[in-house]
Amino acid sequence: MLWVMATPRVLILYTGGTFGMVEAERASRSGPIMLRISNRTPGELKRWFLKRVPEMPEIARCDVEILLNRDSAHVGPEDWIMLAKRIQLAWKQYDGVVVLHGTDTLAYTASALSFLLRPCKKPVVITGAQRPLSALRTDARRNLISSLEIAASAGKSPDPRAAQGVTVFFDHMLFQGNRVRKRSASEFEGFESPKYPALADVGTQVRYLLPGKDITDWPRNPKLHLEPAFSEKIVHLHMTPAFPARRLLDLVLGQLDGVLLQIFLSGTGPTHLPGVKEFLESAERRKIPVVLVADGYSLQDDGGANPGNYAAGQPLLDFGGIWAGSMTPESAFVKASLILGQPDGK
Ligand code: ASP
Repeated sequence: MLWVMATPRVLILYTGGTFGMVEAERASRSGPIMLRISNRTPGELKRWFLKRVPEMPEIARCDVEILLNRDSAHVGPEDWIMLAKRIQLAWKQYDGVVVLHGTDTLAYTASALSFLLRPCKKPVVITGAQRPLSALRTDARRNLISSLEIAASAGKSPDPRAAQGVTVFFDHMLFQGNRVRKRSASEFEGFESPKYPALADVGTQVRYLLPGKDITDWPRNPKLHLEPAFSEKIVHLHMTPAFPARRLLDLVLGQLDGVLLQIFLSGTGPTHLPGVKEFLESAERRKIPVVLVADGYSLQDDGGANPGNYAAGQPLLDFGGIWAGSMTPESAFVKASLILGQPDGK
């Protein structure tokens, strides 16, 4: 029996970013060339992509949709929800989705999609570029081509590790979507996954390294239903020596639903300051969660750092802080916003 594999269908959702930007005039004579959003119409943008990446039809039957056309600095919770809804509508019609996104807030959108699209049974690959598609030596073309290949082949690949769920492809690596961070604004290797191993490495072949798995950390109750709603009253504070915790008590706690507190790399904080204890205890009394997150590099399961590792960190837990483990600050921020944005405060 002759078995013909149907050409996979991939939906490309464009949201903006350097990928499709154009060079504008310099702000000053010696200043850098400024990039700005192109004022091509959606139709013109679509035609332009096809012209610059004519190989697209060889990989998949692609539909291009212009959802937004913005610098990702101007993308936020309402857009994450709109994007997730569009992807959910596309499940039946497509084998995979590629999202083109600016790099500045890509890590937030990737986290949001991973939480909003649970369970995510088809590949959603997010990518962007450090140089516009129109530039010489652009990385946009190859980022798009590899993302398309990954999104198109996941459902069909004999490799059980082929990417599922929300991932980020950049330069030559495929990462778990809710574990990426932007690492450079100028190198082609723009993203990293400091606390979770890469899912695939793309060279002459796509080499899958790990099974894509749901690490949204809500496996205990698969039926848990979350409304697509984000609190916009979460603040990300960075602890410093001489942290003005007492001053923040009234300034911050009265106005917010939650606090993301970035502590030092090994999970410690200036816990010798009486204000820190007061701040955390007062937040706990007011039922305002304080999520503790540490930046840094470690591929250990627990993310390396842990407030329990040092006597200077343990009080952060004792006073009511909630440890975010291996989550990146971006992922912890989005997750806290989603949980605290639930209408009934679930
Ligand atoms: N500012 C741009 C953006 O995030 C940067 C980029 O896309 O690389 O939209």
